Amino acid sequence: MLNILVCVKQIPDIDLVKMDPETGNLVRAGVPTLTNPLDLNALEAAVQVKERFGGEITLITMGPPMAESTLRECLAVGGDEAVLITGRPFGGADTLSTSYTIVKAAEMEGKFDLIFCGKESQDGATGQMASQLAERFDAAQISCCFSIEDVADGKIRATRTLEHGREIVEATLPCLVTVEKDNFYGRLPNLEAYLAAKTAPITTYTENNIDGLDPAKIGVPGSGTIVPKIYPPELPEPGQMIRTGSVKSDVGRLIELLTDKGSL
Ligand SMILES: Cc1cc2nc3c(=O)[nH]c(=O)nc-3n(C[C@H](O)[C@H](O)[C@H](O)COP(=O)(O)OP(=O)(O)OC[C@H]3O[C@@H](n4cnc5c(N)ncnc54)[C@H](O)[C@@H]3O)c2cc1C
Repeated sequence: MLNILVCVKQIPDIDLVKMDPETGNLVRAGVPTLTNPLDLNALEAAVQVKERFGGEITLITMGPPMAESTLRECLAVGGDEAVLITGRPFGGADTLSTSYTIVKAAEMEGKFDLIFCGKESQDGATGQMASQLAERFDAAQISCCFSIEDVADGKIRATRTLEHGREIVEATLPCLVTVEKDNFYGRLPNLEAYLAAKTAPITTYTENNIDGLDPAKIGVPGSGTIVPKIYPPELPEPGQMIRTGSVKSDVGRLIELLTDKGSL
């Protein structure tokens, strides 16, 4: 039976996140959260593998306690077990310490043959986690996976999307896979699964119950990067429509505007 891990992240709705002009920090308070959409594609790929080849799916997330709702959403569409890593000392983590923490907590749950990740998160969007996790799990990695052909005899065969075509690759297990969204649409839960997920047990790890967790490698102390400031990009001046009623006067107005700007 395949032991499958799916990494899912709860993110703020980025369309609603604002920036504090004074501090340069993101204001997340009161902003609705959602499951990173690409992680739902990764989960769908994992569920298809489970359906075709057998296996069990463990979901894992690192985040605040409310990230539990993401786990429940994912349990309803095919996850079997769920793991939440949460605690103040994990706050302010960059990808280096996030990947360390996720792997240490995952090790508490056993060994995984396949690990699925989204290609990137919609908020942090570094796209670094999958490769860091693969390295830390000592796993092969298949990125941009378009379809999974076979999982057998300790190997996975998959088709990857390239810029101008596709290629079929084979890797030994354990293997981490990031998927292309266009072939793994997330599914809707049925009522029974939805209700079961509401009360399913969730294994919770904090800084106090992960074996061998090095406090110097989590949260801010374990982060190799610092973001001193976040600021919105400078937007170009908005365009102007010139519609005076005739082409001749439009052109006249355009020349006027360009002359005023010193462009002519
Ligand atoms: C210096 C620094 C400080 C930061 N401080 C904070 C902070 O205080 N609070 C905060 O919320 N964020 C913070 N972040 C962002 C946080 O580090 C990243 O969100 C996190 O490390 C994952 O990176 P990403 O979102 O770019 O993941 P990507 O590499 O873009 O994600 C790829 C995939 O990895 C998996 N994944 C990513 N994150 C998780 C997760 N947490 N749990 C499970 N699976 C996951 C998902 O499958 C996802 O699709 C900080 C980042 C930096 C650089």
